[in-house]
Parts: sequence; C-alpha cells; structure tokens
Amino acid sequence: MAADYLANDLNSRLRLTTKTVGGERIRKAKDNNEEIAVLSMFLPMQSRQEENNQFRCALGYACKLGNARDVTPGTKKMEYKTRQWHEKCFCCCVCKTPIGTKSFIPREQEIYCAGCYEEKYATRCIKCNKIITSGGVTYKNEPWHRECFTCTHCSTSLAGQRFTSRDDKPYCADCFGELFAKRCTACVKPITGIGGTRFISFEDRHWHNDCFICALCKTSLVGRGFITDATDIICPECAKQKLI
Ligand SMILES: [Zn+2]
Ligand SMILES: [Zn+2]
Ligand SMILES: [Zn+2]
Ligand SMILES: [Zn+2]
Ligand SMILES: [Zn+2]
Ligand SMILES: [Zn+2]
Repeated sequence: MAADYLANDLNSRLRLTTKTVGGERIRKAKDNNEEIAVLSMFLPMQSRQEENNQFRCALGYACKLGNARDVTPGTKKMEYKTRQWHEKCFCCCVCKTPIGTKSFIPREQEIYCAGCYEEKYATRCIKCNKIITSGGVTYKNEPWHRECFTCTHCSTSLAGQRFTSRDDKPYCADCFGELFAKRCTACVKPITGIGGTRFISFEDRHWHNDCFICALCKTSLVGRGFITDATDIICPECAKQKLI
C-alpha cells in the first residue's frame, strides 16, 4: 500500500519580460543575451535613413497608424527580437491594449499583457478552477493549490502529509485506515500497513501480530501452530487440554 507521489514546486510561474529603455542598459542586455524589448523614436530621415527604410510595423495591414511603413519623426517604435512595431501597435493579441510601459509575455509569435496571458495559460487548480500563482502541488498529473489538496473524507490538507489513494481519490492515513483497511478480528481496529505494521491472515480473517494470541492461555501464536475452534484460535497445548 504505497503512498502516492505528490510533486512539489509546480512549475507555474509566469515569465514576465519588462522592456528596457536606455542606451547603456540596452547594450548591456544585448551583450548578456537578455530578452528585452527596445523602445526608441523615429528620427528625421537624414539622420537614420537606413534604419527608417527598413522599418515595417509587424501588424502589417492591421497597423493602427494605417501605414506599416510610417516613420514619422518623433513617433515611437518598439523592437523585440527580430520584429518592430509602432509603439501604439505593440499591443496584447487578446485585448488589443497597447503594452505601453507595462510588462508583457511573449509566446510563440504573439505578445500578451500579463492579465490576458494568465487568463489563457496560467495553471488552474483542478478543484477550485482558480489560478495557481505559486506553490501548487501535482497529483496524478493534475495541478492543485496546496490548500485544495485535501483528504476526501475529513478535508485536512494533504500537502506534505502521508496519504493513500483509492479510486483516484486521496485520503489521509487515518481516514484510509478507518474506511478501507482490513480490520483485526480480535481488536476490530484497522490494520493499515502504513509504517510496516505486521499482521497475520488466515482464510478471510486478519489479526495484528500482537492480537494473534491463544483464546484460552493468551500466549502469542505468531510463528506457532494453532487450531481453530469455532471463531476462536487456540494453541496446541490448550487444544490438547480441551480434548482430555
Ligand atoms: Zn503600426
Ligand atoms: Zn491583454
Ligand atoms: Zn484550488
Ligand atoms: Zn482524512
Ligand atoms: Zn488487533
Ligand atoms: Zn493456549
């Protein structure tokens, strides 16, 4: 009866990338191969002609300025990896709100604001369906809040506890014993098997080692022969006495 595996430290944290502005910082970030987005401004044609000529807003026909090649001096542009946008066009692919100075999350070719990303991709607890921001647990490959992962019977939290499952439902050790374990014929308490409890089975009856004693002289029958007498078990000596 092995306890189930419960994985800690669910990898559910969001990766937020904040844009960085400022020449020195950008150079440093590029040197360190950091993921950054760079906000800059179109300068008059003569000073940055080549760069301006290369510009094409990544929104293309959907460009909010109506012209993906607009390089009006003073307009701001955003660069992220190999793509460029007008500042206004650099917006969340779901809610279309310009990212502005907020954080964003890139995923595949799309840009998300933090709220929309969470809504769409964040890990949700299988029990309460709310987002797990940190410290969830995984059970049977499904994510749970630590506080939502509880014993099916008594509702105490099982995170970090020893538990056993039955029909894919988790139970604390106490409840499992009470509900499902074999019961000792003598003392009627559960035989949990947790912690390596030893027990004796004979036909369809079970006893704790300590409870497996002769009904008459009360000596232990563990490792000895025994005789059944109706519902009792008795040692060979007592059996002999009885026959005489
Ligand atoms: Zn644009
Ligand atoms: Zn959004
Ligand atoms: Zn939950
Ligand atoms: Zn319980
Ligand atoms: Zn017992
Ligand atoms: Zn006896």
